[in-house]
Amino acid sequence: MAQGLQLLGFDSLSFMKSCSVNITYACPACDTPIRTEFDSETSELACKHCDKKIAIANDAVVGIQVGKCLVCPSKDLFLRKDFPQRVGVALVGIGILGSSVAWYYTNLPWTFGILFATALIDVLLYTLVGDALMCYRCHSQYRGVAEMESHGQFELEIHEKYRQIEARMPAAKPHETT
Ligand SMILES: [Zn+2]
Ligand SMILES: [Zn+2]
Repeated sequence: MAQGLQLLGFDSLSFMKSCSVNITYACPACDTPIRTEFDSETSELACKHCDKKIAIANDAVVGIQVGKCLVCPSKDLFLRKDFPQRVGVALVGIGILGSSVAWYYTNLPWTFGILFATALIDVLLYTLVGDALMCYRCHSQYRGVAEMESHGQFELEIHEKYRQIEARMPAAKPHETT
């Protein structure tokens, strides 16, 4: 069950329980997704798969505030709701499918009941989940960090800037042969 939820991208539930400060990033050497806790004392991030180490700059983490990305290290970070999009889309799908079936059987209360119920769950989930901080450049995600608001919301202009940088260097990620 827990694994199934995680497959849906629902590991934000564990965040709500623990409230620890952690980062999720893709290892720059082997692309393995890594999730690890950190604090201002942490000096490096290490990949469990290929042992690639990333040194953290002294000024990157102050208290439990993140000044710049620990991985790339870019200062452009943005705030977003830690809501797994796939779950939202799945819920809307279930709502439409369920209500269509009820509609087919000309059951009006169920048709609207299912639609409203799934829409309500959608809204509730959205309100319950916390915020996450994301790096424009390397897409690392930070959870449990203080004062995320100081980084601002998603801006298309900055996203576009990094997308173009990425497009210009396709060979930026060396893959290891294992
Ligand atoms: Zn690695
Ligand atoms: Zn980054």
